[in-house]
Amino acid sequence: MTRPERIRERFPLLQDPPFSLKGTRTFLFLLPADPAKLDALLARTFGWAAPTVEVSRLGSHVLLAITDTAEASAADPNLGHFAYQEATFFVPVQGTREGLPFHGLHVPFIYPSEGLAVVAGRELYGLPKKPATLTVPSDGDFWGGTTPIGARCLAAENFDGSAWKDEPLFSISATAQSPIAELADTLLDAVDGFFGPLPAHLFGQDLVQLKQVADVSPGGIPPKVLYRAVTHVQAPVDNVTNVRVGDASKVTVHFETLASEPIRDVLGLAEDVTPVLAASFEMDFGFRNGDVWLERPETPPAPPPKEKVLILGGGLGALSTAYELTATEERRQKYDVRILAQGHLLGGKGASWRNRAKGDRIEEHGLHVIFGFYHNFLRMFRGVYAEAAQPDHVDPSSFAEAFQPQDVVVFHDGDEAYPVRFPRTPNGYGAGPKTLWQQVQWLQMLAQSVLGGGFAGLVANALLPWGNQVVKEIAVFVATLAKGIADDIVLGGKDWEDLDHLDFRDWMESHKVVPGFDIANSAIMQVPYDGVFAYEGPDQSAPKLSATIAARGLLKLVSDYQRAVFFEMTTGMGEAVFAPMYEVLRARGVRIEFFAKVKSAGMTGGSVDSVSYARQATVLAGPEAYDPMERVGTVPCFRQHPDPAQLDPASPALVEDPNHDTSTAQVGPDVVLNVGTDFDWVVCALPAPVTARVFTAAPASSALARVGSIPTVATLHLQTWYDDHRHTLGWNWNASVLGGFRQPLNSMQENTRLLGVETWPLSGPQTLLYCSGPFGGGWSTDSEDPAARAAARAAALAEAKTFTEDELPRVLPGGVDGGTGKLDLDRLHAPWTPADPFADQYVTGNIDRSARYVLASPGGLADRPEPEGEPHSNLRLAGDWTKNGIDIPCMEGACVSGIRAAAAIMGVPADVLE
Ligand SMILES: Cc1cc2nc3c(=O)[nH]c(=O)nc-3n(C[C@H](O)[C@H](O)[C@H](O)COP(=O)(O)OP(=O)(O)OC[C@H]3O[C@@H](n4cnc5c(N)ncnc54)[C@H](O)[C@@H]3O)c2cc1C
Repeated sequence: MTRPERIRERFPLLQDPPFSLKGTRTFLFLLPADPAKLDALLARTFGWAAPTVEVSRLGSHVLLAITDTAEASAADPNLGHFAYQEATFFVPVQGTREGLPFHGLHVPFIYPSEGLAVVAGRELYGLPKKPATLTVPSDGDFWGGTTPIGARCLAAENFDGSAWKDEPLFSISATAQSPIAELADTLLDAVDGFFGPLPAHLFGQDLVQLKQVADVSPGGIPPKVLYRAVTHVQAPVDNVTNVRVGDASKVTVHFETLASEPIRDVLGLAEDVTPVLAASFEMDFGFRNGDVWLERPETPPAPPPKEKVLILGGGLGALSTAYELTATEERRQKYDVRILAQGHLLGGKGASWRNRAKGDRIEEHGLHVIFGFYHNFLRMFRGVYAEAAQPDHVDPSSFAEAFQPQDVVVFHDGDEAYPVRFPRTPNGYGAGPKTLWQQVQWLQMLAQSVLGGGFAGLVANALLPWGNQVVKEIAVFVATLAKGIADDIVLGGKDWEDLDHLDFRDWMESHKVVPGFDIANSAIMQVPYDGVFAYEGPDQSAPKLSATIAARGLLKLVSDYQRAVFFEMTTGMGEAVFAPMYEVLRARGVRIEFFAKVKSAGMTGGSVDSVSYARQATVLAGPEAYDPMERVGTVPCFRQHPDPAQLDPASPALVEDPNHDTSTAQVGPDVVLNVGTDFDWVVCALPAPVTARVFTAAPASSALARVGSIPTVATLHLQTWYDDHRHTLGWNWNASVLGGFRQPLNSMQENTRLLGVETWPLSGPQTLLYCSGPFGGGWSTDSEDPAARAAARAAALAEAKTFTEDELPRVLPGGVDGGTGKLDLDRLHAPWTPADPFADQYVTGNIDRSARYVLASPGGLADRPEPEGEPHSNLRLAGDWTKNGIDIPCMEGACVSGIRAAAAIMGVPADVLE
């Protein structure tokens, strides 16, 4: 704040300095004070001005001057003059201003009897004037002991609601005496005679004041100081006459105790003080213009306290909530966002890291592609990359470098394959509202492009007995899907959610277009089930999938994509998605505590009172200072293991499970965070099975209480590296993604391009294949038991190995051992364990409760709470298991849930692209 307009050096509206005060009768008393109190006063008043202006006390007394001025006037004689009285407390000070010494007086309390004196003194010099009524007797009456000096003002005895009223402030009485008069006058005359007329300032004093102006604008409540300065003014004294020096021991200054006038307390004065000097005299004196020695530099007004948002979890649901809450400077000023994430990684079910011991290879939780209908995810990550503004030498440095559009998907039922090329959509398609009719038109265009001949071609392909079986199945499938949507939604007037209780297969069967064609048991029917791991329980032969989620999702997938049907990443998920997001959030000031395993939440009604978590390790630089990243070549990556250099060696060992989900490692007691002090809002972005364990205090009536019944499935993921080129192995499609394949690893991605960001020698692998699918076996979500975990790991390895040997020959025929008909495991790249090449491949059975995939089973939508949570509660929800409108457990659903959870905290409509 610069100097307020009304504060000027001069004061033309009323009176201008210099002021002259003629014929001023004065009583002066020197009072012993408390040096510590004086020090504290000066530190409080002038401390901020150091080192430019340093002020300290000169001695340990204060002066009390009572003046009765006959004629006070300003520079302009036309303005006239007035008479007034004043009581002033002076603290003698010394100090330096820009290194140069000075002496002077500081006025902490001053009580004039005149309004003009109040205004001028305050506005011009910063003197803390307060109106008062003074009784100033004649010299004779005072020294004769007949009339004391008195001061009263409007004051409050206590700040407890007591009325402000005219109260006595202090009084000064003397017992009858004859002060020494002649001697003092003779002395003054002698000095005058000897030196000639004395320069006035030898008798005058420099006043050093603090001038403060409070905010008087309507927005200034509670009041704050707008402007603060050290001012200085010379007060020259002239014509001193009638000096009388009294017997100070016969004088008593009595102070009242008034909360609003803390003279005694501030100066450290006794209730009844005997001065060390008492005198009276007459003088003329004045005030010059004065000047400002130092103005306080502008300080921005303190921002209002931030709302504290505590986000539990470190997956995409959590991070997209944090991203939204901090998207603008205004939001960053409003919200303090803090994330608690277990373990050392971000990304949850989308995490990936580097295996530094094996060619810096990327190891992932599962196979991930980003579909073209992920409008919200795609918009968010275009923004993330733009904001991260990575330099060119960082890989990937732009969205376009990280996510590459792909058009071809291979449908392979294990026997026959059919690559389907999805046409690119026109610029601007997608990410905007589309009618169902526009989507159906696009389907028609798609059918034409894929099968030739639009719906006619579709029907022809569906009906004709010959041709490629996969093509025929695709045609029948698409025609049946279109008929079902037309029957139920377009013509039947049903809502999508009306179909949720139905299994997709049964629903398709009920909308058959080709009599006699067993659509329900066709191989292509498996594709949507495989896509969402829809195999609940150990029985893999009876997959279940909500007709709502499948039909709406498939329609979106094939008719609502931006540019390309899907995007594949040029690096691991951790690097393409979570690394730049992490950098952006950190730069925005989001606090992230790794190794923070949430254990329980205390609740009242639907609101969270407390959150307890275990610290799984001690980060040497502080709980929120762990850096999870490292560089491999030009790519910022997440570390495979916690970085020992950043952790206290006394930290307990962390288990290998990348999520640390089953780890019981804990340092110290549980950390408990409380509402009001540690957080105002909680966003639960934990996986559904973890949420159910943490929020056991949720009211039985709330949707949160049913989260435990959301079904999940363990998944199996395999990465195999080969010494041969993919064409030698027989992968001859110009496409990377393959679906509808044999169980259990029914979805595949040929990811050879990733080898380019790893650090293999020239003799390194030439081909990389990912395979993911459900991991049957009924693995428990409570998998802390080491024996059960070892059994699961052994089963995962065995299943993946059998699949590699027995099923992969169907897609890699060039890798087959002619003798056995199985895939020749010696074709695998395995320099570390040549005797057992499969041991060097990467297999993970994701059985842990935070790693399991959420199932989109029929009738499940009703159990899923919406991200907005319960009304009037402080709890919001984010994660792929929420009812977020996408409802397919996927990156887009997690992202949308985060956008909605954040909007519900901010109280704004959620900016979700349909
Ligand atoms: C094998 C597989 C393949 C997939 N393929 C695709 C795909 O191709 N395309 C697609 O879009 N989606 C795919 N998905 C789904 C996608 O990965 C998820 O939908 C998405 O990652 C879910 O994000 P989320 O934030 O909801 O949950 P999560 O990613 O599970 O995040 C939960 C977070 O909470 C943390 N956490 C857990 N317990 C605690 C605790 N007690 N205290 C503190 N933190 C805790 C976890 O560590 C994690 O950081 C796949 C999933 C799997 C399993």
